[in-house]
Amino acid sequence: MLTFLLTNDDGYFSEGIKALRDTLKSIGRVVCVAPDRNLSGVGHSLTFNSPLRIRRVDEDFWTVIGGTPADCVHLGYYLILNGEKPDLLCSGINEGPNLGEDITYSGTVSGAMEGRILGIPSVAFSAFGRDEINFEEVAKCAKDVVLKVLETGMPEDTYLNVNIPNLRRDEIKGFLITRQGKRSYKEKVLRLSDPHGKPIYWITAEEFGWRLEEGTDYWAVYHGYVSITPLHLDLTNYRALKELKDRWKL
Ligand SMILES: [Mg+2]
Repeated sequence: MLTFLLTNDDGYFSEGIKALRDTLKSIGRVVCVAPDRNLSGVGHSLTFNSPLRIRRVDEDFWTVIGGTPADCVHLGYYLILNGEKPDLLCSGINEGPNLGEDITYSGTVSGAMEGRILGIPSVAFSAFGRDEINFEEVAKCAKDVVLKVLETGMPEDTYLNVNIPNLRRDEIKGFLITRQGKRSYKEKVLRLSDPHGKPIYWITAEEFGWRLEEGTDYWAVYHGYVSITPLHLDLTNYRALKELKDRWKL
């Protein structure tokens, strides 16, 4: 029987993880380990300086009190699964997209990144759309991706960042292998006052936006396709290796 390890960054109570859990249960055993709160934007943080507690929510369903997605993957693999590798790790389905440079902040993508570090084939799922997300429909596409990955395997040293448009399954145009796009909006800091008149600050984005370049993750979801971007752990800029050596005359 297939085993899936499932996590997210929106919290164990989120609709996205429930929809993905329900869908994956039709294929195999789903061990779900997720944060106890919404940790969107937490990135790849791992908790070293404080203890973690784990609480059972349901059968094969656990929440880590104060744990990040990377913590959840760690505890799920070493504690719940006793170091036995699952067939696939899934992270999500995130409420909102993870496109372009945003993936560096993403707890959802970091959950899959942690899985890859532990040697587990891993996929991050996010939903793209402004309206209320129909997770049941989005999960149908996620299942198609999971089945394809199980059938064809994963390239070495790779994990996948999958973004699915918030459309009915029969409205989806298809599946595209894409590259990471680039953002075209600037973040800004809102200056507000607390009830005592003291200044407080809120980091926000003026509006969502990415460059609409063909072949990118954003281009795909914008046009109604499921975007599948292969990522790897090695952040070396290989194109810059020679240039830097030349500049430094090494
Ligand atoms: Mg999130």
